[in-house]
Amino acid sequence: MKKTVSLLIAAVMAVMMFTACGSSQSKTLTMGTNAAFPPYEFYDGDKIVGIDAEIAEELAKRLGYELEIVDMEFGSIITSVQTGKVDMGIAGMTVTEDRLQNVNFSDSYAGGVQVIIVKEDSDIASPDDLDGKLIGVQENTTGHIYCAEDYGEENVIAYTNGATAVQALVQGKVDCVIIDSQPAQSFVAGNEGLKILDTEYVAEDYAIAVSKENEDLLKEINKALAEMTADGTTQAILDKYITAE
Ligand code: GLN
Repeated sequence: MKKTVSLLIAAVMAVMMFTACGSSQSKTLTMGTNAAFPPYEFYDGDKIVGIDAEIAEELAKRLGYELEIVDMEFGSIITSVQTGKVDMGIAGMTVTEDRLQNVNFSDSYAGGVQVIIVKEDSDIASPDDLDGKLIGVQENTTGHIYCAEDYGEENVIAYTNGATAVQALVQGKVDCVIIDSQPAQSFVAGNEGLKILDTEYVAEDYAIAVSKENEDLLKEINKALAEMTADGTTQAILDKYITAE
């Protein structure tokens, strides 16, 4: 009888130790993103790199997780966060009232601006000249949503990613492309004959999307983000990818 009890205790202790080790070693934090959005997320060979990838790597390290990045269409990220397919969405994602209906957002870690890309000889000089023009955007982004509201859905053509929208502009299928300024700069640098207008369209805040069911993770992320701001880590990551003009 005594032997059985001590065996049982040993077994219970073994299970407890195993569980404790398991949970501290194999905690994974999954990040949903759309890796066609330089310099926030893009492929370097078969690795996803960029500002968001590094912010996420740092967050995971500080919170004691292994980071796993899942590449998907931009329009699938919110649903994937909602359904728990990924723990968080980090994709240069703008905080909007509509998105806040479906997910929580962390404190903002960067700012973005929607800008207008045109051909160098274009007669479009500011957002005031866009009436009746055909505007290319990236599907489901704020650029898409704002343009449809301001200029009418019939004047907007949505492409699955920014690079395709810019290709359409080069081929003369649209008169301009409205997209976030950092990717815009990288697309303009990679294509002849394009320029970004000085007049900006809309300024916005980027933040991390987390399920409404996971308040604890949101708190942990905000705490780590605050530390990363205070010790200069976030700024160092931004400076590595964004060179001042
Ligand atoms: N900032 C834009 C948005 O949130 C675009 C983001 C993106 O394309 N990755 O809609």
